Amino acid sequence: MTIRINDILDEVSAYIPEADKRIIEKAYVFSARVHQGQTRLSGEPYLTHPLEVAYMAAKMHLDVEAVTAALLHDAIEDSLTTVDDIKAAFGADVAAIVDGLTKISKIAFMSKEQQQAENFRKMILAVSKDLRILLIKLADRIHNMRTLEFHNRAAQQRIAKETLDIYAPIANRLGMHWMQIELEDLGLKYTDPEGYATVKDKLDAAAKLKEGYLKDIMGAIEAELAKHGLNAEVYGRVKHVYSVYMKLKRQGIPFEAVYDILGIRVILESVAACYEVLGIIHSLWKPIQPRIKDFIAMPKANMYQSLHTTIFGPGGELIEFQIRTREMDRIANEGIAAHWRYKDGSKLDERDGKKFSWLRQLLEWQKEVHDPHEFLESVKIDLYPEEVYVFTPKGDVFRFPTGATPLDFAYNIHTELGHQCTGAKVNGQIVPLKYKLKTGDVVEIMRSSKQHPSKDWLRIAKTSRATAKIKAWLRTQELQQSTALGREILEKKLKSLHIRKDIDFDQLARDFALKDAGELFGAIGFGRLSVHQVVHKIAPEAPKEAEEHKTAERKKKGEGSGIIVKGEENLLVRFARCCRPIPGDEIVGYITRGRGITVHRRNCTYVEEEDPHRLVPVEWEREPQEVHEIEFSVLCQDKPGMLGSITAILGEQRINITKLKAHSLASGSSVCVFRVSVKSLAELEALFAKVRRLSGVERIERLQAS
Ligand code: MN
Repeated sequence: MTIRINDILDEVSAYIPEADKRIIEKAYVFSARVHQGQTRLSGEPYLTHPLEVAYMAAKMHLDVEAVTAALLHDAIEDSLTTVDDIKAAFGADVAAIVDGLTKISKIAFMSKEQQQAENFRKMILAVSKDLRILLIKLADRIHNMRTLEFHNRAAQQRIAKETLDIYAPIANRLGMHWMQIELEDLGLKYTDPEGYATVKDKLDAAAKLKEGYLKDIMGAIEAELAKHGLNAEVYGRVKHVYSVYMKLKRQGIPFEAVYDILGIRVILESVAACYEVLGIIHSLWKPIQPRIKDFIAMPKANMYQSLHTTIFGPGGELIEFQIRTREMDRIANEGIAAHWRYKDGSKLDERDGKKFSWLRQLLEWQKEVHDPHEFLESVKIDLYPEEVYVFTPKGDVFRFPTGATPLDFAYNIHTELGHQCTGAKVNGQIVPLKYKLKTGDVVEIMRSSKQHPSKDWLRIAKTSRATAKIKAWLRTQELQQSTALGREILEKKLKSLHIRKDIDFDQLARDFALKDAGELFGAIGFGRLSVHQVVHKIAPEAPKEAEEHKTAERKKKGEGSGIIVKGEENLLVRFARCCRPIPGDEIVGYITRGRGITVHRRNCTYVEEEDPHRLVPVEWEREPQEVHEIEFSVLCQDKPGMLGSITAILGEQRINITKLKAHSLASGSSVCVFRVSVKSLAELEALFAKVRRLSGVERIERLQAS
C-alpha cells in the first residue's frame, strides 16, 4: 500500500486525539516542495520515502514533533534547506531532530573492521542525544532496506553490511525486536543471497511439515489452560532466517540440529499465571532441565522478559515454549519504543532491583515524568558514560575513557606526535592540552618540535598508553640529566680538592663495576655512588671528608640546608613546595633530575607517585637553625576579632606570617589560610594547640598543595 498523508494523520489521531495535526500537514507540504522533481531509484516520487518513515514513526506512537521531523528528515541533506529554515517553520525541537538525523547520515563508515563497527554503533547512540533521532533513523533504514533491490550490486552489499554491522545491533540493544528481525533478514538477503535462500527454504519446509503437529500441541495446552480457568493466547512462532543462519554458522551444526526453530508462545494476564502455566506444561511433557530459563526474574539487559522451557513433545520432538504477560510480549517486540508510547493504563512490573543496564535507567527517568513527550525531551542518552568517541579529521573514530585529553589522542596515533603535542584543534577551535574530549569531537593535534613531555603530563593523560610513553621519555631524560649532574658534581669536587690529573673515567667506571664513564656519572647523579668514594679511588691521599662531617655541606644561598643525606654530601638540597616539610616531619629525599635532592614529607601524595628507585633516605640535622615556610588553614566562626586573636598567638610565638588569605563561607564560617615560617614540627604543633583552644575555632590543619 502506498502511504498517504491522511494515513499518518489518522494513525496519530488514534493515539493522540488532542494532537494539533496542522504542523504535520505543514511538514508534508514543506517536504513535498523540497523533494519536488526528485525520484527514488524505484522511479517513485521521492516523497514516498519520508511518508513511509513518518508512518512508521506514527506506528511506533511517537509524538507529533517526531512524526513531523520524520517527514522532514532528508530535507536538509537533499536540498538547500538549512536547520534554521526548519527551526523557523517548525520550532527548535523538530529542527534538533532533523539536524541529528542529518549528522548521522553524514558519518562516513570509512573502516570496515569489526572494532570500528562497534565504535560507530556506540557513537551513533551517543550522538543521538534524543531517542527520537535514533528511532526515526532506524525507520529510515528499514524503508531503505525494503527498497534496496533498486540499487546496484555494490551499493546493495555496502548498505546491507552496514545494516548488519551497525543498525541491527542498535535495534537489538534497544530491544526493538521487530526492527531487528527485519533489518537482519534483509541484510542477510543482500550480503549472502544463497545462504539466505537455503535457510529460508528449509525454515518454510519445516514450518509446513510440523504445522499439524504444533496445532495438536497447542490444542492440548489450550484445553489444559481452560480447565485451570486461565485466559491465554497461544500461537506458534518460527525463528527468523538470520538467527538460524548465524546459529548454524557459529555452532557448525546442520539445520536439523537446531531444536528451537519452531516454538509456541503463551501470552497471559499476570506474572503469577506465567509460572502456573510453566508448571502445567511441565506436568504434561518432560522438560529439558538446562533449557528452563527465567527471564522474568532476571530480565535481559534490553528488558526482555519471558519464561523459556524446552520440552520433549509427543514422538520425542523438542518444542520451546515462551511464556509471558501481554506487557512483556509488547516490550519483547517493541523494546524501548514500548516504554513511552501512549499508555493503556497498565503498569510495568518494577519489583526487581537487579542490575539493569541503561535501559533500566531510562525507565527510572520515565517514572518521574508523566507526559511521554516530556520524557523524550528530558532523555539524554548517555549509554556509555565511561567512554568518549572522537574523530580524526579523516573520519576515523577512536574510543577513549571519559576524561581523556588531546595528549591521549596524540599518543594513540604516534609516540612522536604525543611527545610534541602542544594542544589540539577541536572542531576547529584551539584547545589546551588538558581539554577533556567529548563524543563527536573532531580532533586535530597541534605539534611543535620544541615541545617535549613534562611531569605534569602524567596528570593530564588518562590512558595507560600515553602515561607509559610519557614515563619512558621522562626516564630517558632523567638519565641524561643525572649523567650531566653527576659529571658536574665530580668535576667540581675534583676542582675543589685541586686534583688536576688526567683521569680515564671509563677505566674508573670499571673499577666500580660500571660499564663506562656515562654510567659512572649517572650513578653519582642518581646518588647511587658517593662522589667521595670516587674521589678516594682517584686520589686516596685526599682528605676523607665524609668521615670528618657527615652533614650535607652543600650551601644554598650561604645557609646549611639542615638535611643529612645518607652517604652523600655534595648534592643540592631543596624542600618540596607541595608538602613543605619542617624539622620533625618524617621525610624522604627524591633525586630530581638536574636539581639534586628534593625533600618531601614521607606521606606527601606526590612522593607516592614517584619512581621508588629515585628515593633516598634523608634525616634532619639535630639542631634546626633555619626557618621553613608552611601553610595551614583555620576554619572558624566569622566574627569580629577572630582573625586578630589568631594573629596575636602567632605574634606571641614569634612566628612570622608571610601570607594570609581569608574568606567567608555561606555557612557563617570563614576560612583563613596562613603561610608562616617555623623552625620545627614541635613549634608548629605548639602553635596549633594554642589556636585550637581559641573559642570560635572549628578546625586547623596543615596544607599540602594538590
Ligand atoms: Mn531517508
